Amino acid sequence: MEPKPQTSDLRRSVTALAQQTAQLKRILEISQTLAGTFDLAEVLRLILAAATELTDTETGSILLLDQSGSELYFAATSSPQRDQLMQLRVPAVGSLAGSILVAGKPMVVEDVQRDPRHYVGVDQKIDFQSRSLLGVPLMLRDKSIGVLEALNKHGGEPFSDEDGQLLMTLAAQAAVAIENAQLVTSLKKAYRQLNEIDQLKSDFIAIASHELRSPLGLILGYAAMLKEDASTDTVQQLDVVLQAALRLRGLIDDMVNLQQVGEGRTKLNLEEFTLQDAIQSAVQALKDLFTTKEQAVVIDAPSQPLRVKADRAKITLALNNLLNNAIKFTPREGRIAISAEESNGEVQVHVADTGAGISEADQSMIFDQFYQVEPHLTRKHGGLGLGLAIAKGMIDLHGGRIWCESVLGYGSRFSFAFPIGGPKQN
Ligand code: ADP
Repeated sequence: MEPKPQTSDLRRSVTALAQQTAQLKRILEISQTLAGTFDLAEVLRLILAAATELTDTETGSILLLDQSGSELYFAATSSPQRDQLMQLRVPAVGSLAGSILVAGKPMVVEDVQRDPRHYVGVDQKIDFQSRSLLGVPLMLRDKSIGVLEALNKHGGEPFSDEDGQLLMTLAAQAAVAIENAQLVTSLKKAYRQLNEIDQLKSDFIAIASHELRSPLGLILGYAAMLKEDASTDTVQQLDVVLQAALRLRGLIDDMVNLQQVGEGRTKLNLEEFTLQDAIQSAVQALKDLFTTKEQAVVIDAPSQPLRVKADRAKITLALNNLLNNAIKFTPREGRIAISAEESNGEVQVHVADTGAGISEADQSMIFDQFYQVEPHLTRKHGGLGLGLAIAKGMIDLHGGRIWCESVLGYGSRFSFAFPIGGPKQN
């Protein structure tokens, strides 16, 4: 017959069980807090606080393996000698921390001073006596990234197996939290660098477009003046100069327009106008281009005027860019159809062509700034890859949408839509 358990034994078991449950609950709380924290310094602080609390120790440290893999550095410590410790490095081979890293399991050292692996440099450089130590590896997908150490158990008690298990459980959560926080930190850094580059690009565009405008104005003015008194031969040559200067002005205008879109300071000059008029004017302005290429341009719009409230110049700019592209990317004798319609409180404008078409992969990119389907150096057509980005910017300002449907080799249809009565107020 089995001996009856003593009441005192039972009480001890119940107390131990209650203690374990409380510790597991605490670990759960800690891991929930860690999962929601992405600031690296805060993550490390939380881990250390939890490590010393769970193991009832004086201090704790987190050492991480450096890029070379040959040294560990103090990423965080709750030791009062923090400032000195944070400058120290510990060799990955031969040191206590290094041994824990390689062993990949908890290690207890009851008398640190007597352990030959103890890196005495640490205690010498700081005014602190390491006595007992419990260290566990920080493992991430089977790889050790560092070590979590708890030092000097209160009351000089030895570390128990539970201490090791608790610290291992914490270390598993900690390693993931550290990686997440490191990822967020590098993402933020990359984002900051991207913003700086973007700012540089904007500054360059602002300066370049400003500086190019004045001399170009002079070239255009003088060439036009000289043309008035020139002989027939010279007129032809001056026309070439004028055409080239006008193309340059178009490119500079693109840069200026893009800058306005990017800065978000562009204001809308809302006015009422008829969409059919705006389409007619845009087509008229590009007549030389499509007649030279013998392209047919047809307009299909309702007979009743489509009256809209919008910034006419900006809507015209968007339309102009779409038409320009349709002419540019459609071969001689091709067909370009412009249509407009009203539906559900918005107007839609479509520009369809029988040109080169755009692959599905490129369709998702062409509205990005400076994106061109053909490589820059070998492309047949001029342009900076800004026309569609500007068109999108202009339509976005009106609270509208712009999109493209296309089949490679058959043609494209670009469309935009915006509220008929002007942008909706927020
Ligand atoms: P770009 O100044 O190069 O015309 P855009 O931003 O206007 O710049 O257009 C981006 C790219 O989208 C063009 O380089 C071209 O490859 C493609 N694209 C735009 N419109 C058309 C079209 N109607 N047909 C075929 N490809 C087009």
